[in-house]
Amino acid sequence: MNKIPFLELKEINSKYIDDITQHCEKTIRSGWYVNGTQKKQFEENLARYNKLPYAIGTSNGYDSLRLIFKSLIITGKLKIGDHVIVPSNSFVASALAISENGLIPEFVDINKDDFLICKNSLIDKTTNKVKAILIVHLYGQICWSNELKQIIERHNLIVIEDNAQAIGAELNGVKSGAIGLASAFSFYPGKNLGAMGDGGAICTKDLELYQIIKAASNYGASNKYTHDILGDNCRLDEIQAAVLNIKLPHLNDENTKRRSIAKKYDEGIRNESIQLPKLPSQQLSHVWHLYVIQVENRNDFQEYMNLNGIETMIHYPIPIHKQQAYKKYNDINLINCETVQCKIVSIPLNSCLDHQSVEYIISTMNKYQIN
Ligand SMILES: *Cc1c(COP(=O)(O)O)cnc(C)c1O
Repeated sequence: MNKIPFLELKEINSKYIDDITQHCEKTIRSGWYVNGTQKKQFEENLARYNKLPYAIGTSNGYDSLRLIFKSLIITGKLKIGDHVIVPSNSFVASALAISENGLIPEFVDINKDDFLICKNSLIDKTTNKVKAILIVHLYGQICWSNELKQIIERHNLIVIEDNAQAIGAELNGVKSGAIGLASAFSFYPGKNLGAMGDGGAICTKDLELYQIIKAASNYGASNKYTHDILGDNCRLDEIQAAVLNIKLPHLNDENTKRRSIAKKYDEGIRNESIQLPKLPSQQLSHVWHLYVIQVENRNDFQEYMNLNGIETMIHYPIPIHKQQAYKKYNDINLINCETVQCKIVSIPLNSCLDHQSVEYIISTMNKYQIN
């Protein structure tokens, strides 16, 4: 019987291994390992890819988010104590970056069909204390619409993007990460563009913010040993940048493969007990970082899949407002978040899944019967 792991990183990276090895060797032989030409090149490549003027390589996705909010405070665009909207169905980093900077997360609910920020909840939660919103392009799909835009503009909110899961997605020709004032990217190995260790980036179209973030990521240094602000050390190292410089040109192909698998699932999975994810109105606006279905009897379903050799996961089993770390928020009600939280299951979807595995996953799911 087939064994299908949720994700096999060594397989994903094997097709690039010769190029990467060569490129890393060059970097090792250069003798320059931090703040060098690889990072600079990657920043240029990433900015161009996103059709934006500025990109800054960082240590990881969380640090990227953290630095954006820190820099918004330094530039006076936000002040400590301001409230920031963030969806509760996300990875905890989205909220932590807000809390870490003395800002107050204001958790909003999601839609039950696409898992993105719910506009009614946004209207509800946008008091006059709210000054910014962190839109999360969850599971790889762009979280943006005319309705959200109108609400956001009416309240004059600063828009920041958590683009850890959606690199390469685009809506009306605009890349995810180029919608708001600044955006955070993660190159955690399992992301659509994965490094071989931790890595991240920030993109922005704002020159002042770019300069502050760039300094803030490197000890607040405008020049070496000149420190104008209280900075951090959040640099992307040369080896990771070298890996990413090799992989970025292949990202569109990887995302295209993901889309074709999502399409096969959408056309092939027919089971009344299984609700498939809603397709986006624009195909390109989704890069399918995750394929998340909903099923009533989740434990049963996962056990069934497991018995048939298919590994599944849950993203995420506990909404952020229900976490111990966010105890103060445990009693708020975000009804859609809490409803889908017991039903969501992520099934394998990555650029290495072959046709046979996809067909096997589909037929296994079609044979599933709820007990
Ligand atoms: C992965 C992820 C992050 C954090 O990125 P790291 O590189 O792991 O720090 C933040 N937000 C979301 C939505 C993520 O999926």
